[in-house]
Order: sequence, then C-alpha cells, then structure tokens
Amino acid sequence: MMKNVLLGTVAVLLIGVAMYRFFRGKAEDAPPSGGLTFVCSRCNLKFEVTYAEWDRITNDRRLFKVPDQHTKTLLIKCPKCNDFTAHKYEEPEPPPPEGATPPPQ
Ligand SMILES: [Zn+2]
Repeated sequence: MMKNVLLGTVAVLLIGVAMYRFFRGKAEDAPPSGGLTFVCSRCNLKFEVTYAEWDRITNDRRLFKVPDQHTKTLLIKCPKCNDFTAHKYEEPEPPPPEGATPPPQ
C-alpha cells in the first residue's frame, strides 16, 4: 500500500516537471519584446527605440547620420542632447565558437 502511494507521488512529480519544462520552453521561444537599445556617447543616456520607430528612422535620411562609411556606424538623435550622438548599444557577447559563420550584420 505504501509503495503504491510512493509510486503515485513520483509519477505526479515527473508530470509536474515535464509540464514545467514544456511551458518554460514555450515562454523562451517567444520573440524578444521591446526594441533596440541606444546609448549616447556624450551624456551616456541609454534609451530604447521600438522596432516601429527604428523603421521610421532608417527610412528618413534626416533622422540618422552615418559619419563613418567604413564601420557604417549609425547615429541617431539623443533625446537629451538633441544631437546625433547616440549609437546602438551592444551587449558584450562571448566570441563565437571557432569555425562558426559570423552572424549577418
Ligand atoms: Zn545625450
């Protein structure tokens, strides 16, 4: 009798873990929300640009600047300085494994 209760408890635990993994996996597959993070090189202000806004900016030559044609660094207006001093903020990433193809820029 005790053995059956124990087996039942183990089964419930296993189902719980499976369900937890299932739902957690689903949540991780969701596309990242928000937008792109920019940082101002003058005042260090970090601000977010939504993907819709980013589309609008890149479609209007007056809303961005490319001061360096070699690196193609794109500068947008910092809301605080009101000048083209903000560039895309890149989280420090670990280097890709040897032989891996670099991600498209
Ligand atoms: Zn600024």
